Amino acid sequence: MVGSSLLDVESIRRDFPILATGVTYLDSAASSLTPEQVVLKEMEYYRNYRANVERGVHRFSRKASEEYEGAHGIVADFIGAPSAENIAMLRNTTEGLNFVANSLDWRRGDRIVTTVVEHHSNFITWLRTAKRHGCHVEVVRSDPDGMFELADFENAIAEGTKLVAVTQVSNVLGSILPVKEITGIAHERGALVVVDGAQGVPHLKTDIRDMGVDFLAFSGHKMLGPTGSGCLYIASDELFKVEPLCIGGGTIADVSLDDYRLTEPPLRFEAGTPAIAQVIGLGEACRYLEGVGMDNVEDWDRMLAKKLVDGLSEIDGVEVYGPKDPRLRVGIVAFNIRDMNPHDVALTMDAEYDIAVRSGHHCALPLIREVLHLPEGNVRASTYLYNTPGEIEKLLGAVEDIAKG
Ligand code: PMP
Repeated sequence: MVGSSLLDVESIRRDFPILATGVTYLDSAASSLTPEQVVLKEMEYYRNYRANVERGVHRFSRKASEEYEGAHGIVADFIGAPSAENIAMLRNTTEGLNFVANSLDWRRGDRIVTTVVEHHSNFITWLRTAKRHGCHVEVVRSDPDGMFELADFENAIAEGTKLVAVTQVSNVLGSILPVKEITGIAHERGALVVVDGAQGVPHLKTDIRDMGVDFLAFSGHKMLGPTGSGCLYIASDELFKVEPLCIGGGTIADVSLDDYRLTEPPLRFEAGTPAIAQVIGLGEACRYLEGVGMDNVEDWDRMLAKKLVDGLSEIDGVEVYGPKDPRLRVGIVAFNIRDMNPHDVALTMDAEYDIAVRSGHHCALPLIREVLHLPEGNVRASTYLYNTPGEIEKLLGAVEDIAKG
């Protein structure tokens, strides 16, 4: 064990058979790997009680419903939400953010405050809302490391602000945003807050009671869960105010020829047959992360991030982006080697070193263009609990080789 007294990385690695391929997987910010426990949990559904949920009285349907509802409860506990009813199971973060955009009662002239470091999913959603409803979008800028001045939020969250939409962590720079403080300012001024937790929830111990936000969207596939699973936390005060994104089967309490009455949350938000196996798998993923302990996941991540940032910064010709202080970031580390095209670097890493990293603009063009001024983007290495210090050394060796040309 290195860096964390409680995280036994070798034992964790045994839960991820895909690692036996020998690939050094440093692309978890795009999508994490999935442990055997999650795969088996999904298979258990298909093999033992495959049926629709909330629709049948037979034993398979009852068991499937019990597991499906149970997963809501596990996720609620994982983020410290008051109850399962606060958790809408959707497909991913993007759907959660679009849910919020389409569920609020917008008025002409409403202001939306967001930031320059956002992923497109938490940016163009608001540009579209503004176009559709005649709202104004105010973009708060960061410094080149993705760090913010709270005074800029104080200024931006002016009268008439209906929503503040910020990310918990930048998916390019790895920087952690002061979400709690931003939420304090927003609430003081009567604005709602939606947080994009796609990169925060997997890496940082997240407690909704501490954050105090109104909505938190995150993706199961970035936190050891199945693809097609994601959540939107909805604060209790908003549960009966927001309009569901879709309605139909599974969302009603009663229907007559000329009216309908929606059922209770969270089912009113989950129209049609949901991604049952994936949701059950996501519950298992949260259970797995709880088993390791999110404090340990966070410590491990910070240790790997420090090693990556320090190591890359020492290599001649390498520029590292994002904060150097490991307390300000997670293990998402972007860099460039001289003027090499980032895609060429990533391809060489894969072909010659068996290392998987992401390259390009990472769906964050405003940041890439306006703050970093990198038309081709950069290379991004991102860690998770199954990565080892040895793998970071392997990446550093590869970057050193490539930088020497
Ligand atoms: N926000 C951030 C910060 C992200 O990193 C991502 C994924 N790259 C998303 C949103 C979108 O996630 P998904 O594709 O799972 O909806």
